[in-house]
Amino acid sequence: MHLNTQILLAAILGIAFGYILQIDPQASFVPHSLYGLGIISSIFIGLLKMLLVPLIFSSIVVGVSNLQSSGQLGRVWKITVLCFLTTTTLALALGLACAHLFDVGKGVDIAMFQEDMNTYQSPDTLSPGAFFTNFIQNTLINPFKAFSDGNVLAVVLFALFVGIALVQGGERFSVVRKLSQQFFDIMMLMIGWVMKLAPFGIFALMAKLIATEDISVLSRLLEFSLVVTGTTIFHGAVVLPLLLWIFGGMSPIRFFKAGRTALITAFATSSSSAALPLSLQCAQQNMGVRPHIAGFVVPLGSQLNMDGTALYEAAAALFIANLMGLELSLTQQLIVCVTAMIASLGAPGIPSAGMVTMIMVLQSVGLPAEAIAILLPIDRILDTVRTVVNVQGDMMISVVVDRHTRDVDEIPTPSTST
Ligand code: ASP
Repeated sequence: MHLNTQILLAAILGIAFGYILQIDPQASFVPHSLYGLGIISSIFIGLLKMLLVPLIFSSIVVGVSNLQSSGQLGRVWKITVLCFLTTTTLALALGLACAHLFDVGKGVDIAMFQEDMNTYQSPDTLSPGAFFTNFIQNTLINPFKAFSDGNVLAVVLFALFVGIALVQGGERFSVVRKLSQQFFDIMMLMIGWVMKLAPFGIFALMAKLIATEDISVLSRLLEFSLVVTGTTIFHGAVVLPLLLWIFGGMSPIRFFKAGRTALITAFATSSSSAALPLSLQCAQQNMGVRPHIAGFVVPLGSQLNMDGTALYEAAAALFIANLMGLELSLTQQLIVCVTAMIASLGAPGIPSAGMVTMIMVLQSVGLPAEAIAILLPIDRILDTVRTVVNVQGDMMISVVVDRHTRDVDEIPTPSTST
């Protein structure tokens, strides 16, 4: 059976097994099963995390140095940023529009959440300005510290600089360039090994998620959950594929077939970073994106481009405002959008990262940080879908950038092998 099919099957079986565990949580086999599932998922996630930092570093270094040598750095850079901004803006607009359309939160009894809010301890929160300063202070740091702390954003930045330096040095640094390329190839080989374990990892992650999350709380916040999930799915199933079709020349069916391993992993792990090794591999090997383009766009996107997160944060801010009976003015809604965009840029690709940056969005328009307490119980579940869209956006943009940076006589016909 093909690996992609195995992974899909593993996700379905994992969900089914999770439900079985939920039926009778007191049954004697449940703790043992959860323990086993915990071990298997930790091994899978651990292996992905092990590869993450060296992979990001080498892929960006190789990507940038190859871009410059083909004289395309400026062009690739511009198209990438344009795509990131466009898709995130569309996601924000969609989030706000749907929250308005369905009046999420209006008429819900806020007293229901009062206790949660009273007991919620808000962490140190930041204004957008302070957030930005903090962002810079955490990014421009000793690279060795960044490597050992797994500070991915700082690694991305350092890798960009090293890539540019390699290009400037030209022939002088050809050995290091070759070394980076080979190091990157080794990482990709190791990802191939980890992928063989993916069906087990995905099974365990899905089963654990379903067995341990209290899905019943979803019903308390049912309308909001449905609107956010529905809108996120709409963005991922209609808006992004349409853009991909128009600007990337790839049919959505082909895209989903080629990218499903990464998308299922994003769903099961709720982490763009954990899914990165697979999204990089899917983009290169299944979608036919040239390695230096994928190596540049996908890792960068996994940290900076998060449509699902931006959409969620904008809709959630409106939901909280409605719950409180506040009407946000147009200017306040614009502030929400800008802050949500900064927040999605700054959110690391890990589970529930959006919740932390959400505080900043709420505070930007004077909503209480304690309101996070209302969203926290459903966050882990909603995170699954928004992470899929985050990862989808990265792979999709790599296809678009790839297409628009090939020479005219070389317009790609992306490979269909999946
Ligand atoms: N879990 C998301 C991701 O990794 C970030 C978020 O919490 O929105 O892409």
